[in-house]
Amino acid sequence: MDAPGYDFRSRLSGVQRAAGQSGIDAVLVTPGPDLRYLIGYDAVPLERLTCLVVPADGDPVLVVPGLEELAAQASPAGPLGLQILTWGETEDPCALVASVAAGARRVAVDDHMWAQKVLGLRAAMPGAEQVLAGPVIHPLRMRKDDAEIAALQAAGRAIDQVHAAVPEVLRAGRTEREVGRDIAEMIIAAGHRTVDFVIVASGPNGASPHHEISDRVIEHGDAVVVDIGGTMPSGYCSDSTRMYAVGEPPSQFLQWFGILLQAQRAAVEAVRPGLTCSQVDAVARDLLDAHGLADLFIHRTGHGIGLETHEEPYIVSGNELPLEPGMAFSIEPGFYARGLFGARIEDIVVCTDAGWQSMNHSTHELVVV
Ligand code: ZN
Ligand code: ZN
Ligand code: ZN
Repeated sequence: MDAPGYDFRSRLSGVQRAAGQSGIDAVLVTPGPDLRYLIGYDAVPLERLTCLVVPADGDPVLVVPGLEELAAQASPAGPLGLQILTWGETEDPCALVASVAAGARRVAVDDHMWAQKVLGLRAAMPGAEQVLAGPVIHPLRMRKDDAEIAALQAAGRAIDQVHAAVPEVLRAGRTEREVGRDIAEMIIAAGHRTVDFVIVASGPNGASPHHEISDRVIEHGDAVVVDIGGTMPSGYCSDSTRMYAVGEPPSQFLQWFGILLQAQRAAVEAVRPGLTCSQVDAVARDLLDAHGLADLFIHRTGHGIGLETHEEPYIVSGNELPLEPGMAFSIEPGFYARGLFGARIEDIVVCTDAGWQSMNHSTHELVVV
């Protein structure tokens, strides 16, 4: 896993600084996006404990099972010169972590740590209070640097390529499942390492935002929501929704779709530093509301994206976090009319000094196949 340009040293020292300011003595990070962010080690979460110990003061230490030592050294964690401590099959890894973090009164555990590990570490460190590490790690992950923005751009190009090819596989008479299978292959062919989700929601199925695929046969006149995403070899994710119609969709749909296009565009164009997440949500919501569609827009406007498809910042009413350059998130308003149809348009945008930059460039118009 090559990760040129990622400054792991400054990420680690950023976490140490934030931990110190929060009165946290050590941050414990097991395999997952936080570990990948901090040291580039893309380890699979398994029953054997792998744990990065980042003390507020002092050098970080990576604790790994003996059989994972070479894999850890081969990852970007190796060149980083991190101390790697191993444990043997019959040893207690939680006791080893406890000895590395000896004296810690307050430890932060990563938000996705398995309960089995959380409780094991609690038992091994009875004097230490456990808190979540999200508040010290996620503010860093939320602000993407240039290398991360380049990775999101590459992910955007790859998923745009898939949307451009959807008309080749979407047609009346095929099931959502058949179309979804073809799209999944195209997601990999476009350069993703994994397919994270494929939503092909035709006709009335479009009214369920998280409908994935079914055996429903796509019919003439259906509007079809295609929301797809995957993870690139860099670890960064794509996520884009476009709307298709097989022949002529209902006129009510076309009228509402025109309003949705305006709302999505307006929310994207509103993005700039200082505007709050709540305000971005309101731009899309108010426009739909002005046309009587607010009740049909049943979810938040967007979510942050990076090493995870859904991460901070959440573009939702009540989130008063101001946007800053480097924040990356989706803008994906929709409308969902039960029993009839649904629609959503989604781009990933990055907040810049001047405003915004989109990671997606495929057409936003309804694509009629
Ligand atoms: Zn979702
Ligand atoms: Zn999304
Ligand atoms: Zn999506």
